[in-house]
Amino acid sequence: MIDETHDPELKSWVESANRSGCDFPIQNLPLGVFRAGNDELPRVGIAIGDFVLDARPWLSGESLNAYMALPATQRRDLRRAISQALAQGSPTRPLIPQGECRMLLPASIGDYTDFYASIHHATNVGRMFRPDNPLLPNYKHVPIAYHGRASSIVPSGTPVRRPLGQLSQGRFGPTQELDYEVELGAFLGPGNALGKPIPIAESERHIAGVCLVNDWSARDIQRWEYQPLGPFLAKSFSTSISPWLVTLEALEPFRLSAAPHDTPVLPYLENAAPAAFDITLEAWLQTPTVRDPFRLSRASFRDMYWTLAQMVAHHASNGCPLRPGDLIASGTVSGPDRENRGCLLEQTWKGSEPVNLPNGENRLFLQDGDEVTLTGYCERRGWARIGLGVCSGALLPAING
Ligand code: MN
Repeated sequence: MIDETHDPELKSWVESANRSGCDFPIQNLPLGVFRAGNDELPRVGIAIGDFVLDARPWLSGESLNAYMALPATQRRDLRRAISQALAQGSPTRPLIPQGECRMLLPASIGDYTDFYASIHHATNVGRMFRPDNPLLPNYKHVPIAYHGRASSIVPSGTPVRRPLGQLSQGRFGPTQELDYEVELGAFLGPGNALGKPIPIAESERHIAGVCLVNDWSARDIQRWEYQPLGPFLAKSFSTSISPWLVTLEALEPFRLSAAPHDTPVLPYLENAAPAAFDITLEAWLQTPTVRDPFRLSRASFRDMYWTLAQMVAHHASNGCPLRPGDLIASGTVSGPDRENRGCLLEQTWKGSEPVNLPNGENRLFLQDGDEVTLTGYCERRGWARIGLGVCSGALLPAING
């Protein structure tokens, strides 16, 4: 629902929030958890321009789980109250520069599920392994996912250690094929009781907001272990997320209808309303010798085959309870064009076409010291830009490497 908090003319008394190109204008108001200075306990804050506003007048606690558990209507009321407090003309409040805040995970994440919702990604990867029959027969009927590992989800800025693993029969050691995956994450809201599905018309009420996800992947480990049960240790060594929860309300001006499917879905998966979001996602690389960030890819979340609403409805369709603070991720976000490929596996076409960097270096997979930064933003004529912030991780050598 569009309301006065989305008004593109709305300005804040925080000057840096009114700058064009800012990720966190007053129309965004993402929530996060941080520690500043000698804080003993983490606290909840709101990003505004270059600053963080302490959210304690509205929200207490050391995580956003309680906020995520609120009914969607209360989360919307809270957005209105915070928007008013930060609007030009309201009394100023103390702010903390973002540079002085150490951002933590926004929630205590109980469960993490990773989908495979980009048909472009699924088709590209399928084509590498099955040129004649790239898309598996179930793809257009059932949203595919696997249960990931919540314990290794880390906030942006946390270094990522190259994992050890079984690379093929008889070989154990540091992965030689470390990759990233650009994904959108969604933190779940109130959720459902055991045994009670969530109808698709209600499923968005159970999404508190979104973040960036880098689903680091060890392709050699993955290739050797994934059949028949799917990814396991190739993914669970680390998953990086951006620290700011950009609410679904903030994304409202960027909602659009999902591209029509050529294959009808079952009624429980039929989107009740426009359920796609136009969010641009980019991946950038810095290496020990390439210090200017080099853009690896850019794609839009609007090109996904399955919507967030469909993912939530499907996840709960068997009665599996979803809980506040659970994280789902979309799967690699790729698009129809070459520049839209959201991981190195696709960009190098399974390690056969290197990515050339501006200084003459190239990459088939990531090397120690490389840093991958994901960014995301929504831009549409007539509306304020909504940024997702950044999700960065730099690679450390393997533990005995
Ligand atoms: Mn993934």
